[in-house]
Amino acid sequence: MTTTKVVNPATEKVVATVELADRAATDAAIARAERALPAWRAVAPGDRARLLRRFAEAVDADLERLAALEVTNAGHTVGNARWEAGNVRDVLHYSAGLPERLLGQQIPVAGGVDITFHEPLGVVGVIVPWNFPMPIAAWGFAPALAAGNTVVLKPAELTPLTALRLGELALEAGLPEHVFQVIPGRGSVVGARFVTHPAVRKVVFTGSTEVGRQIMAGCAEQVKRVTLELGGKSANIVFADADLERAAATAPYGVFDNAGQDCCARSRILVQRGIFDRFLELLEPAVRGVRVGDPADEATEMGPLISAAHRERVAEFLAPSTTIAFTGSAPDGPGFWFPPTVVLPSGPDDRVVTEEVFGPVVAVLPFEDEADALRIANDTEYGLSGSIWTSDVGRALRVARGVEAGNLSVNSHSSVRYWTPFGGYKQSGLGRELGPDAAKAFTETKNVFIATD
Ligand code: NAP
Ligand code: MG
Repeated sequence: MTTTKVVNPATEKVVATVELADRAATDAAIARAERALPAWRAVAPGDRARLLRRFAEAVDADLERLAALEVTNAGHTVGNARWEAGNVRDVLHYSAGLPERLLGQQIPVAGGVDITFHEPLGVVGVIVPWNFPMPIAAWGFAPALAAGNTVVLKPAELTPLTALRLGELALEAGLPEHVFQVIPGRGSVVGARFVTHPAVRKVVFTGSTEVGRQIMAGCAEQVKRVTLELGGKSANIVFADADLERAAATAPYGVFDNAGQDCCARSRILVQRGIFDRFLELLEPAVRGVRVGDPADEATEMGPLISAAHRERVAEFLAPSTTIAFTGSAPDGPGFWFPPTVVLPSGPDDRVVTEEVFGPVVAVLPFEDEADALRIANDTEYGLSGSIWTSDVGRALRVARGVEAGNLSVNSHSSVRYWTPFGGYKQSGLGRELGPDAAKAFTETKNVFIATD
């Protein structure tokens, strides 16, 4: 039996030992999910909705425990962890409203009736990264279950604890056995098997663009359905007419939340030339003021990075020649700490401008005018999120429409609402999660013609 030791990134202490599924165990889970499918897809939409609501209520009743688990396992601040558990609850409640709204169409035809059905795909494999273990899992499994699919979920090897608890809660809430299974394991074993196993009809993957490409290529073999939520290099664009105090005060939250381990992190701040120096002056105290430390402390705003290896990876972005404008604080002692770091890049090809750091490092760059801002913002292979700070509503909309990204916010850094669609342009992904069409993404459309002549 292979096991993995789960480490608290704030203390470096082992907090749990978790069994890892091998290929045979993965195949067995997929076979169980296949067997559970006919009964689950036959459950009346209203009854499926009721079960998902009960699941949501079980998550709500367990919210503090789930949050505490995530603080311990992923080093998330307790405030964030509560939001994340609450997001799972909300996504489940929202998804509970979807089975009865999977509406087909009646299309006018001559000599008969033509109707469409949205039918479940079958077994869905969900592969989750370590940065937001709870919400990202729920964005996949909740709408997939709502549409009548069965789900096998693979959490990240580093962060399996909350997913395992969610699996227990599903059973306690009365979901039939094997409709929703959680199997920790290695990506190269369990995740890769979702791609090659013919009974898995869709793979939902969130993680690096590199692995996302491999998954998409693998799925092509069987023309398997795939949703990809990948990396980002999002721009926070600050125009001279913006509320500068607010833009500067909130910019740290836009990039350093979850210690920058966020695919939506606004890791490039683009500032209009005339206000560039003033913006940096305002940004400095905001960055120095980010409270970094014990994630269980209610006052903490930023916790540690996920692992020693990831901290090394983040540190490699800062060469001896890198111009660091200023940094925030980070505790000494055990824990994978990294201070919030503001970099003035050497030019457009600097790695901190072109690559996803996935840590608390932000590049600040000047731009001249609207056209220049759009050119720089779109000069990336990614296209997930972005923010626009301006007091001109026309400009806000022009720029929001001009940025090649799936989720834009104006005078705000908010990216995720469970009732609005989420996903990336370009190499940030494929498909959309959440929103009114969330369950439809887990169906095939069938067209039936009935002759009446
Ligand atoms: P990753 O390798 O893409 O892992 C994401 C998930 O995919 C994990 O569950 C992983 O399993 C699994 N996986 C890995 N290789 C696989 C394969 N060949 N087939 C199927 N599944 C596979 O990401 P990472 O190594 O954790 O992080 C690397 C970088 O990716 C980060 O530094 C960041 O830049 C980016 N990233 C982005 C996001 C995002 O939200 N967009 C999330 C995480 C990471 P294991 O448990 O075995 O790793
Ligand atoms: Mg990896």
